[in-house]
Amino acid sequence: MKYSELCKVYEELGGTTKRLEKIAILSEFLKKINEKDKDVLYLLLGSLYPAYDAREIGISTQTVIKALAKATGINDEKIVGEWKKIGDLGKVAELLIAGKKQSGLFHGELTTEKIISDLRELAKMQGKGTVGKKIDLIAGLLSNSKPIEAKYLVRILLADLRIGVQDSTLRDSISEVFFHDDKKSASEIIQHAYDLNPDMALIFEKARKGLKELGKVTLKAGAPIRAMLAQKVDTIEEGFEKVGKPAAFEFKYDGFRLMINKDEKGNISLFTRRLENVTKQFPDVVSFVKEFVNAKSFMIDSEVVGYDPKTKKYLPFQSISQRIKRKYDLEKMAKDFPVEVNVFDLLMLDGESYISKPFIERTKTLRKIIKNKEYKLVCAKQLITNDEKKAQEFFNQALKLNQEGLMIKNLNAVYKPGSRVGYMLKLKPEHRDLDLVIIGAEYGTGKRAGWLSSFILACKSDKHGEGEFLEIGRVGTGIKEKLDIGVSFLELTNLLKPLIIKSSGKEVKVKPKIIVSVIFQEIQKSPTYSSGYALRFPRVTALRIDKPLSEIASLKDIEREYKRQK
Ligand code: AMP
Repeated sequence: MKYSELCKVYEELGGTTKRLEKIAILSEFLKKINEKDKDVLYLLLGSLYPAYDAREIGISTQTVIKALAKATGINDEKIVGEWKKIGDLGKVAELLIAGKKQSGLFHGELTTEKIISDLRELAKMQGKGTVGKKIDLIAGLLSNSKPIEAKYLVRILLADLRIGVQDSTLRDSISEVFFHDDKKSASEIIQHAYDLNPDMALIFEKARKGLKELGKVTLKAGAPIRAMLAQKVDTIEEGFEKVGKPAAFEFKYDGFRLMINKDEKGNISLFTRRLENVTKQFPDVVSFVKEFVNAKSFMIDSEVVGYDPKTKKYLPFQSISQRIKRKYDLEKMAKDFPVEVNVFDLLMLDGESYISKPFIERTKTLRKIIKNKEYKLVCAKQLITNDEKKAQEFFNQALKLNQEGLMIKNLNAVYKPGSRVGYMLKLKPEHRDLDLVIIGAEYGTGKRAGWLSSFILACKSDKHGEGEFLEIGRVGTGIKEKLDIGVSFLELTNLLKPLIIKSSGKEVKVKPKIIVSVIFQEIQKSPTYSSGYALRFPRVTALRIDKPLSEIASLKDIEREYKRQK
């Protein structure tokens, strides 16, 4: 397929904020996609692979600027100047290439196959010494691009498409194309299939063949599903009201979520809740799984917690978070920062999907295949009861053992991937903590000169696109000046610098990507910030590299907290 056709659709999609119009545009486009071109579905989501595939394009703005300079002959500084003025490197590329084309640069016709295969090639180039190759490859594509093609190429490279298309938009468009007469129920079937295998190109091809084929889609070890999310409650009583009696209470461990997969051949793979593959980073967990889970193939949901190797005391998430991104010394890391796996749900066993079975059956079966081994792999501590007092005692016990609180689970509920449906609740003693995203920062002075040292935090609104993130305050405390365990200014500065989209004086605006956990004393109403609220005495406690942007606190969460504290 011609890449220019895809760009035309990107442009149309970016030109409207109305969901129904987007669906109409997408439906027309999907009709033109034949089986050979199915990977274009990934490009519509700004990606090259299914969501669970860890390979990322991951190109820095610096590399893109260098490639643009090479393709156009315009120097870096001038490009950076334009970028600062316009705030969108894609648009800059469009303008520069347009200028170039007038002076008669040759271009052939780019196809989506060529774009996909070149970008996949790019994703493979890793490590030192590959920067030059990356620049050459991108410059080559840019030189062959029409202005609008260059714009979207740059946006794809920077993972910033700005067309407002979500998984759900594509789902409804697929339904419109193939099941026009009963699109509502078809949308549900498509969603269910996508829940089981979050690969949009595969789902598109199944949908083409009909509902029966979609019905055959099933869980596959190695193709993990999105994790089910929890709703907050304030008391045990409220918990019982939401999930009914009796309910299962489990310790809420303060670690990170891990999806554990084993396929029929015995290959074990581990994924975070962002569906990032972290198998290499956790050789210790792989060996625990081999030893203490007794089944041929499975998909298990769990929370991994760190502990002090000497005192055996459990540690907060931040103490092990560095293991998630680590690329070297992995065995040593496993020794220095040991973890215990707490398993709590079973999604697939020996090829059979369990997600539509009630929780009570899932947890019972799970407990049969696990051999508990403390400080290695254990089932989450659980109490099934209809007695409020007993549940309260269990809660106290969890807190005494330094756990965060309890999870409360509906015994009859199915597992709903990726949603916060209220089948699973979380109860903590105080909810004075939020996961927020950094959208801006300010350079420090004196001892902190050269570092970004004050950070603008935002929650999400319920809108998509413009105004999606709302400011809720600034934070500079909780971050360390020296590099030890914890979050340091240097680390945050290095993470944020490639994400800068605008700068004026000491202030910078950054792409919303870096998520932090923040504790605070109180939420106040405030006209200063666009959310209408401000945090009093916020302090950063952890960098949440394991969480996706979709899971940060929403304006509704903030409003709820505000009301609660009153
Ligand atoms: P939160 O991250 O605050 O939304 O809390 C929900 C998270 O608690 C889940 O996503 C898990 O990572 C974690 N968790 C810890 N223990 C459990 C458990 N026993 N059952 C389910 N989730 C748990």
